[in-house]
Amino acid sequence: MNALGSQIANLWGQLLDLLSKIVNPDWGALVNLLPVFLVGPVILGLLALAGGWVVYTVRRPRARVRVAEGPRPALLDEAGAALFPDGEPFCPRDALVYPPGAARCDACHEELAVRCPMCGLERPSSIVTCGNCGLVLRVEPRVRLLQPTGPPPGGAAAA
Ligand SMILES: [Zn+2]
Ligand SMILES: [Zn+2]
Repeated sequence: MNALGSQIANLWGQLLDLLSKIVNPDWGALVNLLPVFLVGPVILGLLALAGGWVVYTVRRPRARVRVAEGPRPALLDEAGAALFPDGEPFCPRDALVYPPGAARCDACHEELAVRCPMCGLERPSSIVTCGNCGLVLRVEPRVRLLQPTGPPPGGAAAA
């Protein structure tokens, strides 16, 4: 037999080997794989559930609710002095920064200050226009309490 013939015989032998594996499956190995077959659908089911949940969450009609924003502590520099962002009301006494539209400190009830983003001059936050450079702060008063801004969902309005 020449080299090519022996190679073909070799391939044929491998093919038969492969066929025998397919025809006579290794049941032991399959049993070992059984958890995969069982776990697979469970994972798929969980994925489907998660996908459905995501779709539901995205599509769910949402009551547009503005969350009441409270003050946040001001950032401190290396020396421990409060850093107040320009254009946002703040209480220098309590080192609290308030959302736009806030006028008084919740903690000390003092009038809040605001620093002009243009010229850096401080003024009471209730004054919208800078007396120095004339910059008008665009104040967006936030709703302080939970209050739906759209039509109540499903007509089930809270009394
Ligand atoms: Zn205060
Ligand atoms: Zn100014």
